[in-house]
Amino acid sequence: MSELTIGLVLPDVLGTYGDDGNALVLRQRARMRGLTAEIHKITLGQPVPEGLDVYTVGGGEDVAQLLAAEHLIADGGLNRAAEAGRPILAICAGLQVLGHSFRASGKIVDGLGLLDATTGSLKKRMIGEIISDPLLPGITEPLTGFANHQGSTILGADAKPLGSLTKGTGNCDEGEQVSYEGALQGSVVATYMHGPALARNPQLADYLLAQAMGISVEELPPLEGSFARQLGDEVVQLRKERLR
Ligand code: GLN
Repeated sequence: MSELTIGLVLPDVLGTYGDDGNALVLRQRARMRGLTAEIHKITLGQPVPEGLDVYTVGGGEDVAQLLAAEHLIADGGLNRAAEAGRPILAICAGLQVLGHSFRASGKIVDGLGLLDATTGSLKKRMIGEIISDPLLPGITEPLTGFANHQGSTILGADAKPLGSLTKGTGNCDEGEQVSYEGALQGSVVATYMHGPALARNPQLADYLLAQAMGISVEELPPLEGSFARQLGDEVVQLRKERLR
């Protein structure tokens, strides 16, 4: 791979709580491995190129996510990228938009259908920290993030949860699925965790990086340099703090 290409999808409408940082984390962790990596920003109205290596979609306000869904459905590029197996990380509103339908601004709206998931409304808006035990093979550390959403997501049989919740409110707050967080289907990894999620959960970042490169996590080149070591220590400290 001569250059790792990271698609930052609609940062002008989706990208609350630093979610754009997920693309930065992927680029930085690639560069610290000696790889060339670039972020391709795709804004509202622009077509989503289907041949990038990995895509990140952030969270957003109800009105913003309506605009995002409308554009992404009309364009079709992100769906084609998913069909081609390109990894896609979707956060909060991003998760909702990638499902079959979601409720925003009092309307029930079609999503992209990349996740077997439908989103209604929580009884009470979830604002706060969440922790879950990962259900994605190869990820061993607890997942941590900050959540702020009104949406309540139920997964269908084709989507699996990303984590089993140990703290906070996850995808929904009633019914059989109360203890689930996030969704996995095909090449899509979706979560309610802001943070940004990949800064807080480096194992998840490396999972996506490996997927983007078409290799296993074990095959990723080692992180190099004093900055990588310093960053590693800092991440450990910050994760401890958050988990506490
Ligand atoms: N607008 C959505 C909700 O409240 C998503 C919020 C977000 O992305 N933080 O459920």
